[in-house]
Order: sequence, then C-alpha cells, then structure tokens
Amino acid sequence: MPYCQSHCPLHNHIPDWLRLTAEGRLQEAYDLSTRTSTMPEICGRICPQDRLCEGNCVIEFSGHGAVTIGSVEKYLGDNAWENGWVRPIEPGTPTGQSVGVIGAGPAGLTAAEYLRRAGYEVDIYDRHDRAGGLLIYGIPAFKLDKSVVDRRVARIEEGGITIHRGVEVGKDVTLSELRERHDAVFVATGVYQSRELTVDGADKEGVVRAIDFLTASNRSGLGDDVAEHADGSLFARDRDVVVIGGGDTAMDCVRTAIRQGAKSVKCLYRRDRENMPGSRTEVAHAEEEGVEFLWLSGPASIEGGDKAERVQANRMELGEPDADGRRRPVVDPSSSFSLDADLVILALGFEPEPLPAIFGEEGLAVSDWGTLECDDDMMTTLPGVFAGGDISRGASLVVWAVRDGRDVAQKIDAYLVDQRKPSAAAA
Ligand code: FAD
Ligand code: SF4
Repeated sequence: MPYCQSHCPLHNHIPDWLRLTAEGRLQEAYDLSTRTSTMPEICGRICPQDRLCEGNCVIEFSGHGAVTIGSVEKYLGDNAWENGWVRPIEPGTPTGQSVGVIGAGPAGLTAAEYLRRAGYEVDIYDRHDRAGGLLIYGIPAFKLDKSVVDRRVARIEEGGITIHRGVEVGKDVTLSELRERHDAVFVATGVYQSRELTVDGADKEGVVRAIDFLTASNRSGLGDDVAEHADGSLFARDRDVVVIGGGDTAMDCVRTAIRQGAKSVKCLYRRDRENMPGSRTEVAHAEEEGVEFLWLSGPASIEGGDKAERVQANRMELGEPDADGRRRPVVDPSSSFSLDADLVILALGFEPEPLPAIFGEEGLAVSDWGTLECDDDMMTTLPGVFAGGDISRGASLVVWAVRDGRDVAQKIDAYLVDQRKPSAAAA
C-alpha cells in the first residue's frame, strides 16, 4: 500500500493516476481520480497535502521533495472541465424513495451525488443563498476560485438534484417535517459557532469574528453589495490588523487582510511555530506576503474607547502537557507589550451550534463537544436521520467531508434497501 494513498482520506489511486499522467493519458487519469472523489480539482487545490498525501510520500522521506500530488490532481480536473471529459451525473433506476440533505457543503453535495446515482430523489436544503458551504463563504477566493465550485454545483443540479437555497431547517421547515417528506435525512450542517475571546474590551467596535470577515470578503468577490465593506466595519484597508489564532482560518484572515490593503497585519498565537495547528505552507506564504507572526503571545485586553485601538498582550511559555499531550501555554507575568490594532479578528476555532434546540428535537444526542452522535452506520439517535462532515467530526477538512458524504450514501442506501423489503413495510 503506497503511503500517499493510505494517508489520503479518500484513498485515491494516486500512483496509478500519476503514472497515467506521466504517460500523457490524461482522460484515463481523470476518470480514475473520479472513482474515489466527487471533486478532485477542489481537493487538489485546498487539501493540506503536507499533512496528508505529500507529507507521506516516500520520495519526501528520502529527502528529495514529494511528488506534487495535489497540483497533478488539480491539473487533471481542470483539463477534464476544459476538454468536456466531466460526465453528467447519471441517475440510477428510480427506487421510489427520497432523501433530504441538510447543508450544501462538500459533505452534503457528495452524498447527494452518490445517492442520485443510486436512484434516489434528492433534495438539498441550505440556509445560504448559494450552495457550497465553506467552499463558497469560508475559504478565500485566492485559494479556491468560486467558479470552480459553481461548476460542480451546476452539475449536481443538472443531474436532477434539487437545491432549496435560503431554507433554514429549524426556522423555515422543521426536521420533523423533513422526516415526513423524505425516507431518510442526512444532516451535514457544518460547525459555525465561533469561540469567543473573554478578555476585557473584547466587545469593542472593531473586534470581529473570522467567519464574518471572510464571508464579507467572499460575498464582495462574488459581486454582492456588502454593507460592511462600504462602512468599513469588515474591511482591512489602511488599518492595523491583529488576527488572534494559529489555525488555517487565521492564515486565511491574515492573507485576506493583506490583499485588502491593510496598513499592517500581525498574527498573535499563544504557542510556538512548531505547535501551531495551521499548515506550515500557509505560514510560509503569509510571511512572504508581509504578515508578522508573534509566537508565544496571547491577548490580555483590547484597549481604546468605544472602538479598538490597541491589543495589550503577554508573552507565553509552554508548560506541562495537557490531556491531549500538547504543552499548555502559560502567561509570563513579567512580560507585557502593546500592538496598534483598529481591526482585531478572532480566529479561535469553531464549535457546533446547538442542533437539538435549533431543530426542536431533544432526542438528537450530541457529544460533550456538541457534535452529533452517530452509530457505526452514521445514523444519529433518530431513526433514518444520518450525519456526517464537520457536524459529526468537529471542525475538520473538505476531504474528510467528501469521505463522509461518500460513506454515508452507502449507509443510507443499505438502510433504504431494507425499508423496501416487504417485512419492513408490514412492520
Ligand atoms: P460546511 O462546508 O460548513 O457546509 C454546511 C452547510 O450547511 C452550509 O452551507 C450551511 O449554510 C448549511 N447549514 C447549516 N445549518 C443549516 C440549517 N439549520 N439549515 C440549512 N442549512 C444549514 N478545509 C480544507 O480541507 N482546506 C482548506 O483550505 C480549508 N480552509 C478553511 C478555511 C476556513 C475559513 C474555514 C472556516 C474552514 C476551512 N476548511 C478547510 C475546513 C472545511 O471548509 C470544512 O471542513 C468543510 O467545509 C466541512 O464540510 P461540511 O459539508 O461538513 O460543512
Ligand atoms: Fe492528496 Fe487531498 Fe488529493 Fe487525497 S484528496 S490525493 S489528500 S490532495
């Protein structure tokens, strides 16, 4: 088993499509890439390859630098679109059953595609006005051009899947209504509750959430009139920006702020470079673009009048390991410093929204972290209601959402085949 393949969550047939590509057999290589993935050119663009396939390439281990697997995957997908090799979705023989999917992110879109191919009627419900989830409103366009997502979404709709945009489950329709309307439901709502900063001054004007900042930027790039750009509240031009956090979302914020023409951009992270969760490649790109990283630094308060003017921060030291084995950052009380900041962006991670309350279904069990609890068949504690992607894993990656969408389609199919048996009808 090649290590690249086993470390790709989709177990893509990497060595085989690399060989076909090297031989110039691009269409065959693309076809092979679609056997395991619904969006190869998207994963090729935005997977953290250094932690997945490329980071486990044997050539990387031998010190010669990994084969650029992600770039080849992107190249194959883009070529396929340009040359008309991307086939429409062919619906399977109708089963007479339907599935409702909540959430049009990568998990929901992938499940919908496989289920349609298996002969189900599929309806996707999403509260946003555009389909794609974080592919559209989270990940910045400089990493993932939105037209690349739109053409996949268009193919899904051309395959006979209905996307109901602007429909929020829990507000416009209840989960219980969807369960009556469909034979099975897949919950793929992602995680959107931002972790808050609890220091003094965190409620001042100019302290904003990463997801709001990135959504406004993506909307503007898509041509929407964004009031928060017009009034400057979510726009970085000519401002001193401090981003708090060390994950990939923080990297997206600093790099977006640079592109918006910020006066200065600093990233404050409480651990050191080696212990940050974000991708090393992203940090390197951000540094090249002029972002200043302040490692082992944490905010103590946000200073100013009604509006933020400065971040007061402390140096940190790494203490004893916590329950996860990561060394816990502790404040060095002898150190304190101040940074000019009239735009402070909080990128402290995401938690699930309280779905049982939102859906009005107290029988929907959640873990201590608020993710939906599922059995081995990816079914929640409500019969016929399945879950996958970030809402069952916690904040994760696009490629894992695609994997869950692929797996859950099989589980839902097996469940609905059972439901079609005469014994199930009699029961
Ligand atoms: P989502 O993509 O979040 O989609 C969920 C959908 O459900 C949304 O469209 C939402 O509107 C809808 N929804 C939610 N609640 C309801 C409701 N009640 N009713 C109707 N619809 C609802 N991963 C990578 O692999 N590479 C990256 O470079 C990367 N960058 C990221 C950058 C940012 C800023 C963020 C926040 C995440 C990033 N990720 C990245 C993570 C990745 O985007 C997610 O892991 C992935 O999108 C999860 O897919 P999903 O389908 O589970 O959920
Ligand atoms: Fe690598 Fe991601 Fe492609 Fe898998 S899906 S081969 S991890 S880039």
